[in-house]
Amino acid sequence: MKVRAAVLREMGLVDPYEQSKPLTIEMVELAPPGAGELLVRVLAAGLCHSDLSVIDGSRPRPMPMVLGHEATGEIVELGADVADFAVGDRVVFSFVPMCGHCEPCAAGRPALCEPGAQANASGRLLGGGMRWHDGGQQQLQHHLGVSGFAEYTVTSAHSAVRIDDDLPPEIAALFGCAVMTGVGAVINTARVAPGESVAIFGLGGVGLAALLGARAASAYPLIAVDPVLEKLALARELGADVVVDPTREDVVATIREHTRGGAMHVIESVGNEKVLAQAYAATRRGGTTVTVGLPAPQRMLSIPAVSLTAEERTIKGSYMGSAVPSRDIPRYVALYRNGRLPVDRLLSHRLTLDEINTGFDRLKSGQAIRQVVLFD
Ligand SMILES: [Zn+2]
Ligand SMILES: [Zn+2]
Repeated sequence: MKVRAAVLREMGLVDPYEQSKPLTIEMVELAPPGAGELLVRVLAAGLCHSDLSVIDGSRPRPMPMVLGHEATGEIVELGADVADFAVGDRVVFSFVPMCGHCEPCAAGRPALCEPGAQANASGRLLGGGMRWHDGGQQQLQHHLGVSGFAEYTVTSAHSAVRIDDDLPPEIAALFGCAVMTGVGAVINTARVAPGESVAIFGLGGVGLAALLGARAASAYPLIAVDPVLEKLALARELGADVVVDPTREDVVATIREHTRGGAMHVIESVGNEKVLAQAYAATRRGGTTVTVGLPAPQRMLSIPAVSLTAEERTIKGSYMGSAVPSRDIPRYVALYRNGRLPVDRLLSHRLTLDEINTGFDRLKSGQAIRQVVLFD
């Protein structure tokens, strides 16, 4: 079938993207779903910083690619051998497909699924298939098994989680990356207990979702760090006890002062190794620094090595919030419905597909939290 989609053909074009247009809106060909796959009508797709990292080349991927990894939609057709879904089901995409059988999957860590990681790195679906072609019959890569910036997409059934039908699409999409990653970093990776101090570096969609998660977990005090004043104001509204602008204050000293020597958990969502070193310095003795950021591959982290031993410090990475998507997404949706996880506050802009390059300019300059493309 013919589908309108946002295609990235070349990484590293200079901004403003409104002019250089790294994403081109094209009519492309989408093949029917193969065995174990779903055809999904995409209803909404969010713009995430890791899309930007593919666009600017700091997270290289095979090209050309139909971009987008945070999305929701409605199943319109089942491939062969799909037992767990029906036409009409609403789903959120998980950007790591979960095979269910490899060692990490068997150990309850599907965010590290090995065939899933392999498929994602090669721009293919979990079963190895590629379903996109452009007008000239060139194959287009899948983005993390999702390719959400398109009217329709084909995905592995192992990349989908069923959700409630009545959730507004622009909210549902957020659960696929920002919420699963941010809330999961607090709940699954850091395992924050009530009354423990938490500091969050970087208040994009993921960082603010982590803030909501820490609030839901009754962290105290809850400290938010970002150089954008509007984001600090929003963080306060969402429950931050202390906000810190690192361009005006000594961020490590301020956090130490409010936490008697450092926060028990520090979540870093910026994707910059210098900020990660700062986050480590702001972590207390016996505490844990969790990073969800994705620095460019050649970046190295430098920290005082002895502190790991002498202060029993821990640094943990958190990919996709160490999530079990089929367990966590319904839980987070329930918390949202109950008012304890107001993820709708992360939604800052609604876009059409044609406005997507401008949206990435806005994301890059820090003027947006979560922007969502809506399809009708
Ligand atoms: Zn993302
Ligand atoms: Zn697996």
